[in-house]
Amino acid sequence: MGALKDAVPGAAAGDLLRGAIGAAMAQHQHKHVAGLATAAAWPPPAGIQFPRSVTIVEVGPRDGLQNEPGAIPTSTKVEFIDRLSATGLPVIESTSFVSPKWVPQLADCSEVMQQIQRRAGVRYTCLTPNLKGFERALAAGADEVAIFGAASEAFSQKNINCSIADSLERFKEVVAAAAAANIPVRGYVSCAVGCPYSGKVEPQQAAKVAKALYDMGCYEISISDTIGVGTPASIAAAIAATAELVPREKLAVHLHDTYGQALANILAALQMGISVIDASVAGLGGCPYAKGASGNVATEDVVYMLDGLGIKHGVDLAKLLEASEFICAALGRDNQSHVAKALQGKRAAAPA
Ligand SMILES: [Zn+2]
Repeated sequence: MGALKDAVPGAAAGDLLRGAIGAAMAQHQHKHVAGLATAAAWPPPAGIQFPRSVTIVEVGPRDGLQNEPGAIPTSTKVEFIDRLSATGLPVIESTSFVSPKWVPQLADCSEVMQQIQRRAGVRYTCLTPNLKGFERALAAGADEVAIFGAASEAFSQKNINCSIADSLERFKEVVAAAAAANIPVRGYVSCAVGCPYSGKVEPQQAAKVAKALYDMGCYEISISDTIGVGTPASIAAAIAATAELVPREKLAVHLHDTYGQALANILAALQMGISVIDASVAGLGGCPYAKGASGNVATEDVVYMLDGLGIKHGVDLAKLLEASEFICAALGRDNQSHVAKALQGKRAAAPA
C-alpha cells in the first residue's frame, strides 16, 4: 500500500527539512538530547487516510503569552520566538497588535517584531484586530496577519462589543489594506463549536463565518475551538459544514485542550483531510474572554502524534523541547505538554 511507503518517521523528515541548519549543529543536537525519542511511525489502518504532510502553526508567543498573568520582559519573548524558529516550525504567530488597554501583556508587540532574528523560510505572523493594529504590524515587519470572527453572537458581543456582521464589516478595511501591501491574511472562526455564554454552536453558523472570512480575502480559515469544549463529533461537524462552503485545503484547526479532547479532535480533523494545525508549545495559552479555558494543544504532543502517524511536519522535537523548557522556566510555569513531561522524565532516568 502506498501509505506504508509514504510513511516517513518524523526524525528522518525533520532531518531532511532542516538540512540548511547544518550537519554540525544537528550532530551537536543529537548528542545533547541522547536518549530522547519520538513515536515510531506506523502505517494507518486500512481505509483511513491522512495527509502526507502537515503545517504546524505555532501560536504560543501570541495566544499563549497574552494569557500570562505576570509581566514578561521583551527579551524573553524575543528569545522564545528565536528558539521556536530554530525548531523547523514554518509559521510563528508572534504577537498581537491589539490595544495595550485590552491586552497589556502584548504592549511591546512592535519591539518584539523588530528584535527577533528572522530565519529564512519562517513566516512571522501577527493578530491584527483593526486597521490601526494592521498598520503597526506592517511597520514592524509582519509577514502575514490574522483577523477573527466569532461563530457565536453572544461571544462577539461580549468579546468585541459588536455583532458578528459588524465585526466582519470592520475587518474589510484591514483586508483591503493588507491586499494593497501584499500581506496575506488568515482568518480565525472563534467559538466554532461552543460558546462560554450561549453553549452549543451550530456547524452552519461556523461555516457561515468561515465563508464570510474567505470571501473577504482570507487565504486560510482556522476553525477554532477557543474554549476547548469540542469533541471529535462536533469538530467533524464544523469541518464538514465549512468544507461545503470553503475549499477544504484552505482550512486549519485551532483546538484548545480544556476538556482533554484536543488530540482526539486533531485526529478527526486529519482524517477529514485537514493539513494545517495550530498548536502552542508547552500548551501555553487560554482565552482572556473565556474564563477557565486552558491552553492550546501542546505542539510537542502534536509532533509526537504526527510522528506516530508517519505524517511529515519538519519540526525537530528535541529543539522544540528546549524552547518549551526555556519558556516554562522563564514564566515559572508547569509544562502542560504530556510529551515534554514524558521526555523530561525519560532524560532524568537515563544514565549520565
Ligand atoms: Zn486560541
